[in-house]
Amino acid sequence: MSFDGHQAPLLDVASLRGEFPILSREAYGKPLVYLDNAASAQKPRAVINAMKDAMEHSYANVHRGLHLLSNEATAAFEDARKTAAAFLNAPSPDDIVFTGGGTDAFNLVAYALGVSEIGEGDEIILSLMEHHSNIVPWHLLRERKGAVLKWLDVSEDGAIDLDAYRAMFTDRTKLVAISHMSNVLGAATPAKEMAKIAHDHGAKILLDGCQAGVHGPVDVSDIDCDFYVLTGHKLYGPTGIGVLYGRRDVMYDLPPFRGGGEMIDTVTTEAVTYNDPPHRFEAGTPAILEAIGLGAALSWMQDKGVDAIAAHEAALAAHALEELSKLNFVRVFGRAPGKAPIIAFAVEGAHPHDVSAILDRTGVAVRAGHHCAQPLMKRLGVTATSRASFAAYNTHEDVEALIRGLQKTHQMLS
Ligand SMILES: *Cc1c(COP(=O)(O)O)cnc(C)c1O
Repeated sequence: MSFDGHQAPLLDVASLRGEFPILSREAYGKPLVYLDNAASAQKPRAVINAMKDAMEHSYANVHRGLHLLSNEATAAFEDARKTAAAFLNAPSPDDIVFTGGGTDAFNLVAYALGVSEIGEGDEIILSLMEHHSNIVPWHLLRERKGAVLKWLDVSEDGAIDLDAYRAMFTDRTKLVAISHMSNVLGAATPAKEMAKIAHDHGAKILLDGCQAGVHGPVDVSDIDCDFYVLTGHKLYGPTGIGVLYGRRDVMYDLPPFRGGGEMIDTVTTEAVTYNDPPHRFEAGTPAILEAIGLGAALSWMQDKGVDAIAAHEAALAAHALEELSKLNFVRVFGRAPGKAPIIAFAVEGAHPHDVSAILDRTGVAVRAGHHCAQPLMKRLGVTATSRASFAAYNTHEDVEALIRGLQKTHQMLS
């Protein structure tokens, strides 16, 4: 992944902001400065309208219908799958499973691998900077199946030592489940190299792309991973929808996670046979409107230019990091070169919750807490941090508002 957008086209941020209705509201009578994008992004009109249009004009259940509305809804739903496949450069839309979100995708893979190949004593490699949703499903396999979790250390900037990683593999290693980008440190992991090393040792690799997918182009064919996870609501799309990309041969060998309609081939009173992927993993009526909304969000990102968005965000991150380094009462966690615009920090002598409460009153929304990454908090020697995270619609004025808010916070708390 590259964040140096020298050749990237420019993003027209002022006009792009006009596409987000919520950005015109105020917070406590002040302009809204929304810097909680790593938790969830705001939605452009393209997404809002796609979902509204579907409800107003083309709504019915998908796949089984033999009538106009069902056919239209099915076409829109399947178009979203094609868009997701193109977004990730997956070989085919059939390699894309719609899930209930990022968390749902990790649980799907963990459950299915726990049935088919991960048993007592088998090893799973995780890093210390994983999000809880890419930790807890593997702990469930530890509790239920006796799987062994092995933890890869990361530097304070979120860098990975590939030699240390390589040395962790044994003949019991079945899977690597690792973040493609930390939701705290903003550092991207060397996914392609890590995938190669995993495969050289006969292990599979799952990448958590819930952040990486937002902040730069992703090419699952080039990375050559077995699984890749996206979540819709951080990609300017709706909640309740995510994407699991799975390699064709791997997905065909995987047993289902949930049972119900759509995922079967035949059902008798004695037995059941399963549908092929991706349908095998989409039991029941899917999140039709949310999939359509996600498709619209990914198309919107592609229209603006994923590279152009990344270049703008890189400039915001560089600006913010430079200004923050001038505040001698602020400690920044993670300064990897070219990192994504996700900045965790501490204000000397102040609890992160107080920092975010004071910033909030200035109209600046940031997150405070452990960011669903308690092992990383322990690694960094803290229990919580503040986190400012930027999106395509943020501006250099937003960076300045954050800095002014922090100066005010420091005055009030010292
Ligand atoms: C948000 C996030 C998740 C979880 O996604 P949900 O949409 O909350 O299920 C997983 N990993 C990372 C890195 C995230 O940022």
